[in-house]
Amino acid sequence: KRKRDDNEIPQLQKAVEELNLENAAYTRFADLPLSKPTLAGLKASHFTTLTDIQTRAIPLGLSGRDILGAAKTGSGKTLAFLIPVLENLYRRHHVGPDAGLGAMIISPTRELAIQIFEVLRNIGGHGHMFAAGLVIGGKSLIEEQNALVRMNIVVCTPGRMLQHLSQTAAFNVDDLQMLVLDEADRILDMGFQRDVDAIVDYLPKDRQTMLFSATQTKKVSDLARLSLKDPEYVSVHQEA
Ligand code: ADP
Ligand code: MG
Repeated sequence: KRKRDDNEIPQLQKAVEELNLENAAYTRFADLPLSKPTLAGLKASHFTTLTDIQTRAIPLGLSGRDILGAAKTGSGKTLAFLIPVLENLYRRHHVGPDAGLGAMIISPTRELAIQIFEVLRNIGGHGHMFAAGLVIGGKSLIEEQNALVRMNIVVCTPGRMLQHLSQTAAFNVDDLQMLVLDEADRILDMGFQRDVDAIVDYLPKDRQTMLFSATQTKKVSDLARLSLKDPEYVSVHQEA
């Protein structure tokens, strides 16, 4: 058993490097090179088949590519970024109390952040060892600060995250691997452009960024130009 566990990450890494990125080649989660804890979490939530946006985005996300993704509400964008976040941190051993913050997921509203966090808990709660938390206000800044310095994955709203980046001395983002901007169109509609720009300024340039939105607007492509590097455009238009 021990031997097989030691080999899991190198084998996953090799399979990820060999992923077919040319067409939508994977229809079932079991066909993808995913860790056992993630597969167990997906199974427990009864997810077996990928949605269209997941089919396009997950192989690219696993491969470390920047993604600009557009697909309407209800198309399954949450797993399209959460699975790459979980897997890429897992394969890099970026997990545990000393690993620091590896991924930041920015959401426009507290309610949506809580929803993302619930999905992360459900999918990530079957053997993964990461520490994740919400930073959305509603608790004292001190309480959030103390939790934040131990997190590997944070789900946050823009204003509150910027407050921590500018005020929490012990909060180190130098090792951040992945940034997700979910519902980017709503983030911009709600007037968070400057906050997001300021957050991005704090983050390492050498990172993976995934930006998802329900609609493609000029503002979204402007934000993408500032935050993404040579992104893959993944847009799914379903028939009404
Ligand atoms: P979006 O962010 O695009 O609006 P969500 O990620 O919130 O979409 O997903 C919408 C719904 O679809 C949720 O109820 C979610 O549980 C479900 N869902 C997501 N992916 C799958 C899947 N692969 N198989 C079955 N249901 C899924
Ligand atoms: Mg969503």
